[in-house]
Amino acid sequence: MRKPVIAANWKMYKTTNEAKNFVKQFKPLVEKNTEVEIVLCVPYTSLESLSEELKNEQIGLGAQNMYPINQGAFTGEISAEMLLNLGIKYVIIGHSERRQIFNETDEFIKQKLEKALVVGLTPILCIGETLEERESGATLTKCKTQIESAIQGVPKENLPKIIIAYEPIWAIGTGKTASPEDAEETIKGIRSIIAEIFDIEAAQKVRIQYGGSVNPENIKDLMSKDNIDGALVGGASLEATSFAQIVNYKG
Ligand code: PEP
Repeated sequence: MRKPVIAANWKMYKTTNEAKNFVKQFKPLVEKNTEVEIVLCVPYTSLESLSEELKNEQIGLGAQNMYPINQGAFTGEISAEMLLNLGIKYVIIGHSERRQIFNETDEFIKQKLEKALVVGLTPILCIGETLEERESGATLTKCKTQIESAIQGVPKENLPKIIIAYEPIWAIGTGKTASPEDAEETIKGIRSIIAEIFDIEAAQKVRIQYGGSVNPENIKDLMSKDNIDGALVGGASLEATSFAQIVNYKG
């Protein structure tokens, strides 16, 4: 059984005070003894104070990016060790905004994924197709290229430590969601790709989220699908009440 994991991606939103207010509001709204693994991926500037706020909570904290080298002359970058030192457990790797706006390549993303695994951070590896690729029937080809590049060569025992977020780019921040059936079909395909690289047993252990305009109205249907193990949520994670409704989707 794969544990559902729902992560917020706040992107470049919220000052530290706003982040702390969110947490104050959010904590009591989360169902007690929830079976959902909850993660907040927040801007670097709020990691330290939220790490304090969430110390004894069931809510994990993640960064939205990292640099794959320990230390050095990389102005403006943050290393995996720096994140670990703050008690951070998760890191988003290869979000489509980083791939598209900051020209991150599959090769660079692989370096980050491997570094995250080596130091013991849980990577949330984002993959997904553009609208053009979807319309030309190239969805799985694109996902295959991205997954193969990232996970080939990763020791098999590390595979269950990776969370994959399937995020069709045309659905991110657009209000357009893949139907639960389409998301399930693609995610099933992604699991088969992992099975081809490793084997079925290994592929069954990898948690695969759906991301792209997830909201309190569509989460339940998405989570009812066999292969969808959670969600990466952007816009709807910025309000404590709506993100709480999402993580409490079972209730
Ligand atoms: C995201 O940022 O990864 C995302 C899926 O955003 P949204 O939920 O706003 O589409």
